[in-house]
Amino acid sequence: MADENNVTPNSEAPGADRKIIKKYNRRKYWTKRKSFHQSENPKEDKLVFRKVSIVIPLYNEEESLNPLTNEIRKAMAPLNMDYEVILIDDGSTDNSLKIIKEIARTDKRFKFLSFQTNYGKSAALQVGFKNVTGDVVITMDADLQDDPHEIPNLLAKLSEGHDVVSGWKKKRYDPFIKKISSKFFNFVTGLLTGIKIHDFNCGLKAYKRVVVENIKVYGELHRYMPVLANWKGFSISEIPVQHHPRRYGKTKFGISRFFKGFIDLITVIFVTRFVQRPLHLFGFLGALAFFVGTIVNSYLTYEWFRGIALSNRPMLLLGILLIIVGVQFFSVGLLGELMVHNFQDDKEYAIKEKNIL
Ligand code: UDP
Ligand code: MG
Repeated sequence: MADENNVTPNSEAPGADRKIIKKYNRRKYWTKRKSFHQSENPKEDKLVFRKVSIVIPLYNEEESLNPLTNEIRKAMAPLNMDYEVILIDDGSTDNSLKIIKEIARTDKRFKFLSFQTNYGKSAALQVGFKNVTGDVVITMDADLQDDPHEIPNLLAKLSEGHDVVSGWKKKRYDPFIKKISSKFFNFVTGLLTGIKIHDFNCGLKAYKRVVVENIKVYGELHRYMPVLANWKGFSISEIPVQHHPRRYGKTKFGISRFFKGFIDLITVIFVTRFVQRPLHLFGFLGALAFFVGTIVNSYLTYEWFRGIALSNRPMLLLGILLIIVGVQFFSVGLLGELMVHNFQDDKEYAIKEKNIL
């Protein structure tokens, strides 16, 4: 408690806030700080957050919802900030909708939207993002595995100037098989995307609003939010967060998550690297196959001129195959280019600043 009393921001030392955040335990700092609006350093204006929107996808989480909302209220109270909680019911078949309706009726900061059927976590997040009014967006799961008391820490990290702060479940409370496969999944994703974070699929994340306005999540691409954000030019950072075992209900993603996850990784890598220029990928592969096939068949043609019969040369089939595959790849790339050309849209580019309407 002793140092808690020393962490009041020193208004005479500009920029001290940030140093203090780093120096002291963040939670103590945040519970002490009166309001996040009150930055006294004009240089930090761009870091001031007006309102936080917490987006929570939920699917059959009836037991967790009341404890979760209470924890959120407790965690947000010391920040003295305006906030809203957007609860997206992803077609629950239990009492979740009834419960969130009641929560929203009694506390106007809680809003809800309910899907007709189960469209998936990504769909729920995307619709949540469309409806936020805050300038910072926090996402978290509804099953009490993510701890709302980490929100101040995420905001503190975001205020250092990052566009996305991702939670890292450093100590995870999940079944062993999930932990191991998740480690592998994170390693491969990091390797292929070059993004140096430990935990891509943590439900708990903070985004500047501009980020969620510029990324589209669908299918099960929520696992790759940091990759999609980074592709659009936003900076990604990470902090370790407290994780809890699932208290009620069961996980909504079975073992199939790993197969789907890796197929989605291919999609994400393709989309983030080649969506604008599909011919760069298919054209390269096509040209390579065509080139090797042509060399093989040229060699065989030369042999044929020397009087060697081609009737017993399996290499001929290889050459023909490579040439055909090469042409196919090239054609697919060209079709891709046609589609990009027709669907080209300025919205693809995330704008940092502008002074035109
Ligand atoms: N979820 C959802 N729609 C789905 C599956 C899950 O909205 O189709 C929500 C779920 O209610 C929870 C979050 O997404 O709030 C994470 O799901 P879960 O806890 O099952 O995933 P895990 O923690 O096992 O990765
Ligand atoms: Mg969970």
